[in-house]
Amino acid sequence: MGWTRTGMAFHRYSLSFLSPRLSAHPLPRSLSATISSHQMSTDAQSVAARLNSAGFIRSQGFIGGKWTDAYDGKTIEVTNPATGEVITNVSCMGGRETNDAIASAQDAFVSWSKQTAAERSKCLRKWYDLIMAHKEELGQLMTLEQGKPLKEAIGEVSYGASFVEFYAEEAKRIYGDIIPATLPDRRLFVLKQPVGVVGAITPWNFPLAMITRKVAPALACGCTVVIKPSELTPLTALAAAELSIQAGIPPGAVNVVMGNASDIGEALLASPQVRKITFTGSTAVGKKLMAGAASTVKKVSLELGGNAPCIIFDDADLDVALKGTLATKFRNSGQTCVCANRILVQEGIYDKFANAFSNAVSSMKVGDGFGEGVVQGPLINDAAVHKVESFLQDAISKGAKVLIGGKRHSLGMTFFEPTVITDVKSEMLLSREEVFGPIAPLLKFKTEEEAIRMANDTNAGLAAYIFTSSIKRSWRVSEALEYGLVGVNEGLISTEVAPFGGVKQSGLGREGSKYGMDEYLEIKYICLGNMS
Ligand code: NAP
Repeated sequence: MGWTRTGMAFHRYSLSFLSPRLSAHPLPRSLSATISSHQMSTDAQSVAARLNSAGFIRSQGFIGGKWTDAYDGKTIEVTNPATGEVITNVSCMGGRETNDAIASAQDAFVSWSKQTAAERSKCLRKWYDLIMAHKEELGQLMTLEQGKPLKEAIGEVSYGASFVEFYAEEAKRIYGDIIPATLPDRRLFVLKQPVGVVGAITPWNFPLAMITRKVAPALACGCTVVIKPSELTPLTALAAAELSIQAGIPPGAVNVVMGNASDIGEALLASPQVRKITFTGSTAVGKKLMAGAASTVKKVSLELGGNAPCIIFDDADLDVALKGTLATKFRNSGQTCVCANRILVQEGIYDKFANAFSNAVSSMKVGDGFGEGVVQGPLINDAAVHKVESFLQDAISKGAKVLIGGKRHSLGMTFFEPTVITDVKSEMLLSREEVFGPIAPLLKFKTEEEAIRMANDTNAGLAAYIFTSSIKRSWRVSEALEYGLVGVNEGLISTEVAPFGGVKQSGLGREGSKYGMDEYLEIKYICLGNMS
């Protein structure tokens, strides 16, 4: 059951690791930021070296149970966003490899879908056990390629694994139905069957959980999958695929291809064998996939972008509101679809909240995810920093004021200061679109009606949060919010046992919970006639 070494996977990284990064000579003061970034990279490098020698760093795609290079030999770099260093080069695949992965998944579907629910459940349970047994290593891998603080990364491994455990159990509960017949000689049944091969396209911000939230229910139902992780974070996905084989999930049931996103997407959309596309990512790409799925009339589920309002009423418990807002805003450096994007604060508590919130934010430690006490890592890449800067610039030019933060962090790279900004108005970009970064915009409101109107004034409808001590208000406002998820006096609400998904342009379908199973099942009606 041990890991096998990948051999060449570490080539580029090893070279940088061997080169002397820290000079024995004292450096001038002006380079102190560079020194600290080099010290961080040394930490990351030793972690990467350990993971590589333990065989955790895979560089090839995974098709039909075999580790496979891109057919034209092309590779892409996977870099550490905290240091900019190359961790490894992975296969850069496209349409041909995807078609082979689909064919493997189709072959595997024939036998996997025929296994008993108990057999599938055992494999999934074993997969869960292996993920949990390796949660430290998977967490380290995630911090390396995605940047989130190690504690948070290990938390994501447990969260990601929880879907595998939950659906191992749920596999045994796919019940059909018997319908009272309308004619005496008939018997009417409803049978639930797996949809078939599933194409699962996932983003970089949750490199494991967005995969297990799709793949575990798909496998539980008897489907097989072709996963396309983000090219920015394929390593966690590849490690999870390796563990799936070790768990006894048969070759071909789980395939991973990465590289040219639009070619892979087109192959998945064009194939009549792929019966379902499940996607988590941006609304723009989700719309393209939805349109593309029309030509073969596939089932589609979409978990897209949000624009979460976080509403703090005058009657809120300030400590609860502070804790919840910090958690929902700054988790993963503000790079989650359910991060508070607009913090609406009632006028009576506005100043008090703004002060206390800024104080709390100013004490957040920013740094490499492997650093002690770090709660905010880097943003994923330079494009993400540019987006944050342009949204901030837009707000400032329209009258918003920066309370704290507001610029790139002195650590350099893609580190950004946790920022609080006031006097934000609904016409600013920060209010209209997801900033996907560590910017907390505060907006003032007077009445409950006004807060609800402001909160719903968006095309997105994923998560919303309210903080209030009134039970009546919490119910009233929860019902009025046009969102798929509502957190009341709580900023972290995702769990494997509850349905996750959006309304309006935040998506279609639900993931997690018993409802997440329906996405991978077809309902078949069987009528037995002439039974008398
Ligand atoms: P993205 O650019 O849409 O990418 C998501 C995935 O789609 C990646 O694997 C990407 O591949 C792939 N992709 C891009 N273009 C494609 C195409 N033409 N055909 C097929 N696949 C394509 O989104 P992202 O920047 O990675 O993620 C951030 C977004 O995800 C945010 O908007 C966030 O709100 C959303 N999100 C939503 C949820 C939710 O549950 N609702 C959860 C997490 C994130 P490459 O990366 O290889 O280009």
